[in-house]
Amino acid sequence: MTDDASDTLAAALLGRFTANSRDHAFICMDPRGTVVTWNEGAARVFGYAPQEAIGRNLAFLFTDDDLARGQHRYELLLAARDTRSEDDRWHLRKDGMRIWVTGTVEAIRDGAGGLLGFVKVARDRTDLRAQVERYEQASEHSRSFFRTLGHELGNALFPLNNVAALIRRSPAGGHLTAALALLDNQVAVLAGLADDLANVERLERGTLALKPVCADLREAVANGVRAVEETARERQVRLEAFPPEAPIEVEIDPPRFQQVMLNLLGNAVKYTPPGGTVYVKITQEGHEALVRVEDTGIGIAPDMLPRIFELFTRATAAAEMEPSGLGVGLNIVKQIVELHGGTVQARSAGSGQGAEFTVRLPALPPPAARSGTAARHGP
Ligand code: ADP
Repeated sequence: MTDDASDTLAAALLGRFTANSRDHAFICMDPRGTVVTWNEGAARVFGYAPQEAIGRNLAFLFTDDDLARGQHRYELLLAARDTRSEDDRWHLRKDGMRIWVTGTVEAIRDGAGGLLGFVKVARDRTDLRAQVERYEQASEHSRSFFRTLGHELGNALFPLNNVAALIRRSPAGGHLTAALALLDNQVAVLAGLADDLANVERLERGTLALKPVCADLREAVANGVRAVEETARERQVRLEAFPPEAPIEVEIDPPRFQQVMLNLLGNAVKYTPPGGTVYVKITQEGHEALVRVEDTGIGIAPDMLPRIFELFTRATAAAEMEPSGLGVGLNIVKQIVELHGGTVQARSAGSGQGAEFTVRLPALPPPAARSGTAARHGP
């Protein structure tokens, strides 16, 4: 086929497609927004026949709220400025029904850059919008559930702590050391859960703000390692850290980063049977600082790996080994690391093959090469 013939064919196909498409509204407008063509799809989506729409300004499809905000003009202004404007909004059908329409408005220019007019391509996605609203409602419910559960747990823990302190000070306290230690342990587990729930809720709402300072990654990781040493010893899991000799400076919010380390190291210790080892490696690769937590534990099956950072995801083997987990820790890790401008990745060769979690953060340039902002955050 010659170039001319394929151009003619393409034009014919496109012409028929736009004229006959039943799902897509194709609306051509002049530079002032007056409708000049109105296809079958536009008639189906908006309920107006071509003769009722052609010659009118497209404003007649907009809701009163959007008209008051000038959205009908803004859509065209934006398209004229940026070539196209995304258009996901409520529109009005002829029968008065509101429909959720998604699409774009493109500005069409001649060879010399003069504005010829606009083409709006749109679809009725009221169904999709309803799904999104149901999803938003469901996640608002779970957020408020987390909030309440977190508060209730916190409220219940406060008197428990007081009672433990009272017993400890009483004459009977001396005989109850083991029972008090158990109580302390379980209270700490519940306090951790309450904290996790509060964090999930804050992260979901986007209200967890970081207070970043410039820190040596080696020290930040060492703090995490220290915090799980005792548990590792109790579980007979060896913990080996390999910090580099030179500092690696990063911008982190120390308590939040500690949370990341506690989750990753805690999991590594938790999911490694006695006799196993957890390795913690810190390196710098170009502009990235890396913390890798590797273990010789139960590993992660390939079908679980892609979902491992999702809320409430727990592998069966892990749940059997540690029935009390909620499956929220890794989700928190991912969100906190991402708030730091970093990434976290999980790898495992499969069940029983150990697991490896790598956190990558932007590394700060050496102090001498650094200018201004980051250095000023320093403690
Ligand atoms: P939890 O540990 O409370 O279940 P997390 O969100 O921290 O919640 O972890 C989610 C799941 O990821 C765990 O239940 C387990 O299946 C898997 N997992 C996390 N870390 C490891 C690890 N080091 N080795 C094997 N599985 C892991």
